[in-house]
Amino acid sequence: MTIQGVPSDLLQQFAAIVGEANALRDQADIAPRLVENRGLYHGVSPMVLKPGSTQEVSAILKLATETRTAIVPQTGNTGLVGGQVPSTAGTELIVSLERMNRIRDVDPVANVLVAEGGAILAEVQKAAEDVGRLFPLSLGSEGSCRIGGNLATNAGGTAVLAYGNMRQLCLGLEVVLPTGEIWDGLRRLKKDNTGYDLRDLFIGAEGTLGIITGAVLKLFPQPVGHQVAFAGLSSPEDALRLFEKASNLCGTALTGFELMPRIGVEFTTRHIDGVRDPLSEPYPWYALIDISTSDSAETAETMVQALLELGLETGLVRDAVIASSVAQQKALWHMRESMSDAQKPEGGSIKHDVSVPVSSIPAFMEAAEKGVLAAMPGARICAFGHLGDGNIHYNISQPVGADKQAFLERWREINGIVHGIVLSMNGSISAEHGIGQLKRDELARIRPAIEIDLMRRIKRAFDPANIMNPGKVISIDEG
Ligand code: FAD
Repeated sequence: MTIQGVPSDLLQQFAAIVGEANALRDQADIAPRLVENRGLYHGVSPMVLKPGSTQEVSAILKLATETRTAIVPQTGNTGLVGGQVPSTAGTELIVSLERMNRIRDVDPVANVLVAEGGAILAEVQKAAEDVGRLFPLSLGSEGSCRIGGNLATNAGGTAVLAYGNMRQLCLGLEVVLPTGEIWDGLRRLKKDNTGYDLRDLFIGAEGTLGIITGAVLKLFPQPVGHQVAFAGLSSPEDALRLFEKASNLCGTALTGFELMPRIGVEFTTRHIDGVRDPLSEPYPWYALIDISTSDSAETAETMVQALLELGLETGLVRDAVIASSVAQQKALWHMRESMSDAQKPEGGSIKHDVSVPVSSIPAFMEAAEKGVLAAMPGARICAFGHLGDGNIHYNISQPVGADKQAFLERWREINGIVHGIVLSMNGSISAEHGIGQLKRDELARIRPAIEIDLMRRIKRAFDPANIMNPGKVISIDEG
C-alpha cells in the first residue's frame, strides 16, 4: 500500500496531540534523527513527534491509522540495520519516546523494575544498582540506547551467556497498537501460560506491530566477585576449547567469553584513545573472559586463576593478564566494545552479525576467511564477538588503499558469501541487530515460505493499514 503525502493541516493535527514544542518541524532539529550510526541510511521526514505519555502515543497512532500516515518509532537511534530511519519518501513521521524516560517502579524484593519505553539503558542499570540489584543487559551503546529500542530489537550484548537477551529479561509489556488501543500487559509473573505469548511477538518486531511504551524488566543480585582476564591464543579452535574448559570450571559464573583477532587489537590501540595492548607480545587471537560470582569475591579469583593455569598447562593460552582493579576491568571491556568504532578510520567496512552453533565457530571462521579472501584479496577481516553465544560480528575492512565506494558497492556480494556459509551451518544472518531495512530482502529469501507467510499474516492482523514502520523487516505488499 502506498502512503500518500502528509498535508500541512494533518501535520497540525499530529502536532496538537503533543503540543507545538514537542513537534519538531525544523529540518535542523530533525536531521540527526534521519541518519543512523554508520551513515548507511539517510531518510526524510516532515516531523518528529515527542509524546509525553502512553495516551499521547495512542492518540498519534489512532490518527495515523485513520489517515494512513506512516510512523517510524525511534528511541536511541543506535540501531544498526536502519530500522529506526524513515524512507526517503518524506511521508513518514518519526515518533520518538525520548520524553517517556521514567523508571515507574523498582521492586528489589520481587526483582523487577518497570521502565518507560524511552528510559535510557544506562539509567535503568543505575536504578537497579541503587537498590543493590543488577539489570544485566550491557551494550556498547548503553549510554544512548533506550528500553523500547532494546526490546524492539531483542538486544543481546555482552552478558547473554549468563542472563539471556532482552526477551529473557522482560516479564511484561505495555504496547500501543496501530489502532491506538493500549495493551496493558505489564505483568510481573515468571509463570504465565495463558494462551499465545503476545509479549514475545512485540519483542524483536522492530516497531512493525506497535509502539512499546513500558516494560517490566527482571533484576538479579549484584555479583559479589568479579574478575576479567585477557588471554593471547593461537586460533579460534583453541578459543573454543578454552571456552569449554571455562564453562566446566565456572558454570553459570561465566558471564562473558569474547573472541578478538589481532587486527582488532591493532585497530583499537591505533585509533581509540587510552587503549593499550595488555600483553607484551602479539598473538593471532584473544579471549576476554568475564567471571561473576554471587557467593564470595574469592570464588571468582580462584576460578579465574584456575582457568588460566589450566589454559597455560594445556597450551591453549599463550599469555594472559587478570585485571587488578575495576578501572583495568573497564579498560579491557572498552577495548572489546570499541572494536567496531576503531574500524571507521580504516575506511569502509562490510559488516555481518551472524551466529552459528558454538562448536562450529572455528569451521565457520576458516570457511568465511577462505571465501572472502578469494573474492577480495587484501580484505582485512576483523571478526570478533560473543563466542560463548556463537555470535560473531564478521566485519571486513577494505584493503589498504582501496576505493571506499567501490569496496562498499560489493556489500551484497560479500554478504552472500558469508551468509551462504552461515546458512550451510544452520546459523542465523542476524544474531542480535535485527532485520530493519538492511536484511529485509534477504530474510524473505532465506526463511521458509511458510514462515514468511505467517509473518505477513501477523503483520496484516496487527497493522492492516500498514502504518507501523512500513518497509522494515517484512514487506506485506508482496505475497
Ligand atoms: P533505535 O535505534 O531507536 O530503534 C531500533 C529499532 O527499534 C527500530 O526498528 C525502531 O523502529 C524500533 N523501536 C525503537 N523504539 C521502539 C519502541 N518504543 N517501540 C517499538 N519499536 C521501537 N545491539 C545488540 O543487540 N548487542 C550489542 O552488543 C550491540 N552493541 C552496539 C554497540 C554500538 C556502539 C551501537 C551503536 C549499537 C549496538 N547495538 C547492539 C545495536 C543497538 O544499540 C541496539 O539494537 C539497541 O537495542 C537499539 O536501541 P535504540 O533505543 O537505539 O533503538
